[in-house]
Amino acid sequence: MSYEKTYIFDLVNKLKSEKEPEKFLEKEWPLIKKRVLGLDYARRQMAKGFQLALEGLKLAYPQIDLEEANFLGTSDRMARAYIEMCSGLGVKDEDVFSQTFPIGPYEEMIVLKDIEYTSLCNHHFFPFVGHAHIGYIPGAKKKKSKVVGLSKLARIVDVHARRPQLQERMSADILKAIEGQLRPAGAIIVLEGKHSCMGCRGPQKPGATMVTTAVGGRFAESQSLRTEFISVINHRS
Ligand code: ZN
Repeated sequence: MSYEKTYIFDLVNKLKSEKEPEKFLEKEWPLIKKRVLGLDYARRQMAKGFQLALEGLKLAYPQIDLEEANFLGTSDRMARAYIEMCSGLGVKDEDVFSQTFPIGPYEEMIVLKDIEYTSLCNHHFFPFVGHAHIGYIPGAKKKKSKVVGLSKLARIVDVHARRPQLQERMSADILKAIEGQLRPAGAIIVLEGKHSCMGCRGPQKPGATMVTTAVGGRFAESQSLRTEFISVINHRS
């Protein structure tokens, strides 16, 4: 779900606990208006830039026919696509993990694997896509450790994927978000990514998969915990 849609969805959720939802919305309205107008201005500026890039491409290859029907609106579609693909930049980790649960008796590894993501490499602004695997071990109660619903782990991947970055950075940032918000005894992130900048230009190796990891706490200390996690994510049921 894109950031803007999530924003509306979050507002509806907030309204549930408001005694006077209309008053609350009235207060929020100037912010919504500012945000929507700001995005619209950004879209138009970006579309101008993409149009310039297309005209530059015509200088390189005069054969290209920018008047052809399928090019109409392309620069605007590119602008909207990139605004959507970077929409995770507008979301804070604490908002994703706003609803947490106290840890129960369970102090074993919690794993969510095969979380699909699409991100953007900031070297080429081409997408890279793949799967994220997350593991964490809830910490001791006195450390204010928390657990979250599984959907929030998928959401934190989504929010971090939707920004331009290096894959290495994305694994480190997801780890930081989980450590900062949940204070687990340990956490591990493995990302597998296929980079279209590798596939359709330069080295032209579309099948190559890049794997990055980030580990903290007990996972950093224990080889056997890391091995256990790897065997869990490799297990196919
Ligand atoms: Zn790249």
